[in-house]
Amino acid sequence: MHDDLYQEILLDHYRHPRNKRPLPHIPESRAHENPTCGDSVKLEVKLHDGVIEEVAFDGKGCAIDTASASIMTELLKGKTVEEALALAEKVIRMIRGEDPTPFEEFGDLVVFSGLSAYPVRVKCATLPWHALLDEISKLRSDIPSR
Ligand code: ZN
Repeated sequence: MHDDLYQEILLDHYRHPRNKRPLPHIPESRAHENPTCGDSVKLEVKLHDGVIEEVAFDGKGCAIDTASASIMTELLKGKTVEEALALAEKVIRMIRGEDPTPFEEFGDLVVFSGLSAYPVRVKCATLPWHALLDEISKLRSDIPSR
């Protein structure tokens, strides 16, 4: 384990979250919450021709929730909707300890290796990814099929 290094990466994402900004046009009813910890996250997913141009987030969360959202927005850029859905489902399983893929394969996501031993924290880390799955399914129902 490289606990100190992981801690540093996590805190960097918490203190300087990537792609975090106010999203006044996204109603609070679209926020996803983790009542166990008090985390709340809203997402804005920008698609162009089925490819994710950008994901932005806003909300208040603990270090783990905020870092997870920040890392997620970086990992999603340039992915197709299908790739993003598959990634989200995989990452959720990995964080829960149900998928043995090494976290090292997904950049800064490595900070969550070993987190599955802490079920309360697992909910913090998976919240943004659940929010993503939900937002994408909403986007799809908004867009007429071509
Ligand atoms: Zn939390």
